[in-house]
Amino acid sequence: MRYVVLAAAIAVIAACAPVKPMPLVVGTEPEPEEPKPTTTPAPTTAPTPTAAPTAAPSTSKHHYTSEYPIMEYGGGKLRVILARDGDAVTESIANEYRCPITLDPTRTTENLVEDGTPAATVTVPASKTTTIARWTLIDPHKAWKVKSHFAEMFGDTASRPTRYVYALPFTAGETYPVGQGFDGSFSHTGDSEYAVDFTMPEGTAIRAARDGVVVATYDQATGGGTTDEYKDRSRANWIYILHADGTLGMYWHLAPGGVKVAAGDEVARGQVIGTSGFTGYAQVPHLHFAVVGATSGAHGTSFKFVFKTSAKDKKGTAPVELKRYTAFE
Ligand SMILES: [Zn+2]
Repeated sequence: MRYVVLAAAIAVIAACAPVKPMPLVVGTEPEPEEPKPTTTPAPTTAPTPTAAPTAAPSTSKHHYTSEYPIMEYGGGKLRVILARDGDAVTESIANEYRCPITLDPTRTTENLVEDGTPAATVTVPASKTTTIARWTLIDPHKAWKVKSHFAEMFGDTASRPTRYVYALPFTAGETYPVGQGFDGSFSHTGDSEYAVDFTMPEGTAIRAARDGVVVATYDQATGGGTTDEYKDRSRANWIYILHADGTLGMYWHLAPGGVKVAAGDEVARGQVIGTSGFTGYAQVPHLHFAVVGATSGAHGTSFKFVFKTSAKDKKGTAPVELKRYTAFE
């Protein structure tokens, strides 16, 4: 059985603001009738621990595992694994992405008592599986259920930016205006406070503003606009690049098919990574760039940053709305 949690609550996310685009989550529950042990005929749909002990002592307890994906983009899947071993039930998250992912789980259960209080916000490290909740069956002979849903965010609540002067994310010699800067009133508020929009024609080459590793991508979205549907993560095309300090560079609103790198690629500052577009929550074609982390599964955070705007600009310059910048490196 599956259910979907409506995303209405997140409409608070202002933005061309990719920071919290898709809080939407799918939950599932194990079949109340557990699979029968293959080595032993089980006379009932819920065999007791004593019903099947002889063939193999290790199966004298119930074993049950099911899993389902909750997020899948270029870079991997996030999978939920529910497992029963004897009277113990666990819920784990397998994070296939090469960056940490922060989640806010909420659950309803039947016939289970929590072992401790599961964390309201958990960060699962890159490429790891982490158990995030444990229960004990109240009545081992009866069916049990876990229904979970998650808000999830790329990034780590612990990431803090180190000082870095970013490259303008386009080709040397090209000039584009900042359509929206830090604290921009259209959508650079809240989670997306420190973000910059460069207004540019669709199809403009986008270059990495900093060295890093590509950790997640999506380029199957088409179309853009300013209705709420476009705030969903899957309605825009984008790239996340993990930096050495644990922050993520996000490049948003790329063209359909406009991602030119793959998860796992190490990219160098200045390298072409994609082409700009007009996908997702946007008024006009532009590139939205920000340096982000997570504060929870439902919210990201954006960090103030500066661009190197000329060869002499050693300290870097915070982008100013409506001002035009020419890339030089
Ligand atoms: Zn923006």
